[in-house]
Amino acid sequence: MSCLFCRIVTGEIPATKVYEDDDVAAFDDINPQAPMHVLVVPKRHVATLNDLGDDDDRLVGAMVRRAAAIAAARGYDARGYRTVFNCNADAGQTVFHIHLHVLGGRALAWPPG
Ligand code: AMP
Ligand code: ZN
Repeated sequence: MSCLFCRIVTGEIPATKVYEDDDVAAFDDINPQAPMHVLVVPKRHVATLNDLGDDDDRLVGAMVRRAAAIAAARGYDARGYRTVFNCNADAGQTVFHIHLHVLGGRALAWPPG
């Protein structure tokens, strides 16, 4: 198993986990771009958003709802935060196991670079 995030999910590679259930895990990004920078991932390997199917609607919903819960638990719900899925080269995806970035704690510029 060579996928970095699969190895974090199994605990083979250490990470600061902030949440885990049967389907989803969340851990701190190793190179945070904001005071809160958490990655929410499915435990099952899915390489990109293009690889999701009809059966994954519930999984993706759980990821988005978990992002909102983590942001709220840290007090960022009212002031705001950003969630981002990068898909493939033009978006800058570097780890090919889908992950939802959850960024908060500072004002974030828009549009993205
Ligand atoms: P992306 O560019 O959307 O594929 O984002 C990949 C993210 O994974 C980047 O924000 C990296 O900082 C993060 N990352 C890479 N390696 C690790 C690691 N070992 N633990 C936690 N986050 C990581
Ligand atoms: Zn994986």
